[in-house]
Amino acid sequence: MDNKRDYYEILGVPKTATADELKKAYRKLALKYHPDKNPGDKAAEEKFKEAAEAYDVLSDADKRAKYDQWGHNMGPSGFGGGAGGSFHAGGMSMEDIFSQFGDIFGGGAFGGFGSAAGGSARRRRQPKGSDLRIKVKLTLKEIAEGVTKKLKIPRFVQCQHCSGTGAKDGTAFQTCARCHGSGVIEHVQQTFLGPMQSTATCPDCNGDGKTITQKCQYCNGEGIVKQEEVIEFTIPAGVSDGMTLSLKGKGNAARKGGINGDLLVVVEEISDPELIRDGNDLIYNLMLDIPTAALGGSVEIPTVNGRARVKIPAGTQPGKVLRLRGKGLPSTDGYGTGDELVNIMVYIPENLNDKEKEAIESLRNSPNTKADDSVKKRIFSRLRHIFE
Ligand SMILES: [Zn+2]
Ligand SMILES: [Zn+2]
Repeated sequence: MDNKRDYYEILGVPKTATADELKKAYRKLALKYHPDKNPGDKAAEEKFKEAAEAYDVLSDADKRAKYDQWGHNMGPSGFGGGAGGSFHAGGMSMEDIFSQFGDIFGGGAFGGFGSAAGGSARRRRQPKGSDLRIKVKLTLKEIAEGVTKKLKIPRFVQCQHCSGTGAKDGTAFQTCARCHGSGVIEHVQQTFLGPMQSTATCPDCNGDGKTITQKCQYCNGEGIVKQEEVIEFTIPAGVSDGMTLSLKGKGNAARKGGINGDLLVVVEEISDPELIRDGNDLIYNLMLDIPTAALGGSVEIPTVNGRARVKIPAGTQPGKVLRLRGKGLPSTDGYGTGDELVNIMVYIPENLNDKEKEAIESLRNSPNTKADDSVKKRIFSRLRHIFE
C-alpha cells in the first residue's frame, strides 16, 4: 500500500486512547486546520482530511479493531459483503467529513461552511433500509465443511420505474417552496468560535430540496417495491447454533433512496441422529457386544463426513473413551479442528436362549471373568471423575 501515516500518530494519541481522548484530539486538529481558518492553504486542507480519516476509523470500534490488527490494509473481510481491501478507497469527501461534525461539535455548528465544502453543506443522515433476518438450517456435515446456500428472499428493492425516487418516471418533482431547493433551513448561532451559521434539515422536503408532484404508480411514491430475489451466500465451516452472519446491503432498500439494510442469517443446527456436538468435538456412544469388548475386533462408526472403522482392543471396558483426532468440527477462525470421542458402552444381553445361557453360565466360575482388586482400582479410578 501507500505510505500512509499511522492514524494514532496523526491524531497524536497513544494506541490506548479512549473514545473521549480521540474525540478531543480530533476536535483540536479540526479547529486548527479547518478550511475556513486557512483559506487557500492546501497543506492545511490535507491535514484536515488526514485527521478526519484517522478519526473516522479510530472512532468506530469495529474499524479500529481491524486497523489495529491489519494496519492500513483492512485484511480479510468479515462474512460476506466482500468488504476487503483498504479502509479508504477514494478517501473521504469534505461532505463526509462535515457529516462527522454533528457528533464532534454537537448541533451542527459547522454546517454552514460554503467554500471548502464545495457548495451546499446540506447533509442529512442517509436513511437505512431495515434489516432482514432469516434462519438457515444446517446439518453437521454442512457445518463441518462450510456450505453455499441459495435462498429466495422477499425483500424491498429500489423501484426501477422511478429509480427509487418515488416520483413518476423519476422526474415528477418541483423545487421545495420552503427551502428553495437547498434542503436546509439556516440560522445563525453563537458558538465558542463566534457566530456560526447553523443549519437544520428542511421539514417540508426532508432535505431533498424537492417535492414530488406526481407519485410513481408502481411503488405508490415509496421508491421501493417488494421483490423475491435469489441470494447466494457462503457459510464458513465451524459455525454453531444461534450464530448470526451479516450480509451487508442485502436487507431492505430504504424508502426514496439511501442505503440498504443488512441480511442477518441465523444459523440453526439440525441435531444429528447419531453424533452429539460438544463445542468443536463430537461424541458418539458406541454400544459393543460382549464378545467384541472381550476379544477385540473392528467396528464401523459414523463420522461427520461418512463412516470410519475403529479397532477395538481385546478387554475394552465400558466407560472407555476413544479419541479420533481431527474428526470433529473445524473452528470458525480456521485454527484447529475438534476430535470425535467414541464413548464405549457394553451391551449386557437381556433375553438369552438356553444355549447362550449355558455358555455364559460356564464362565461364572472361570478365573479370568472376575475383576481382582487391582483391576477394580484401575478401572474405578478412571471413571471417578464422572461422578465428581
Ligand atoms: Zn425543503
Ligand atoms: Zn417507483
